[in-house]
Amino acid sequence: MKEEKKRSLEGCSEAREMPEKENAPAFPAHTCVDCRVMACCGGTGKSYPPFCLTEKMDPALIEKAMAEYKKPDINRIAVSAAEVEADYYCRLTRVEETMKFAEKIGARRIGIATCVGLLREAGTAAQIFRAHGFEVFGAACKCGAQKKVDIGIPKRCEWVDPNMCNPVLQAMTLNREKTDLDVMIGLCVGHDSLFLKYAEAPVTVLVVKDRVLGNNPAAALYTADSYYGRLLHPEKEPGKTAGGGRAEELPENESAGSEPEGGK
Ligand code: SF4
Repeated sequence: MKEEKKRSLEGCSEAREMPEKENAPAFPAHTCVDCRVMACCGGTGKSYPPFCLTEKMDPALIEKAMAEYKKPDINRIAVSAAEVEADYYCRLTRVEETMKFAEKIGARRIGIATCVGLLREAGTAAQIFRAHGFEVFGAACKCGAQKKVDIGIPKRCEWVDPNMCNPVLQAMTLNREKTDLDVMIGLCVGHDSLFLKYAEAPVTVLVVKDRVLGNNPAAALYTADSYYGRLLHPEKEPGKTAGGGRAEELPENESAGSEPEGGK
């Protein structure tokens, strides 16, 4: 494992090694995330920054990507998404935009992949979708009721629930129901990765879980220069090494006792 990667994982419990990627060059020091000019947006009249991805883009890669939009199913999604953005910009909620997008791509059968901790919200979404003429099939993360320990999840993780979140089964269930569009509601970090990997229908996200910030993970970014300064400066947090592990350092009543009943 590279030294920088090792450092970044300090403090994480049981950090696992990724297989080395063959011929993967080191990342450049700056990429789009370091840009504030956004000259790639049309009509800004601004100059591209020296590290600009547009200017350095491999023409063959652009051609390859653009060829994908000629595929009818990909084109339908791309055009529909752009139309929803333009036609309802700052006017419709995401719930409404989701339905507009579903209509535009011709989706009638909506799958909901939900966390059991957000079943109430998922139920409300289903009611709304049904009220607008969609068929809805929901699959909760614990469906199938399989044990965590059976796939090698450490026993200490059972305090949340002995049964595993099963995003692969959620996806396979919705695939079998032949959904036209899947909507994710509050799947955990990583479980969402697996759902996205296995879902066959296009997937959109309605709710992103953040157990601390009322399902608004962006709040940590908005306040990273103030209340959540520890995120940008982990070395300054008392008794803390870079890379996480805070939950283990909290007193027991703060870390384990804050989970709401039935919450995941
Ligand atoms: S493509 Fe260039 S201009 Fe656009 S965000 Fe990236 S670096 Fe900035």
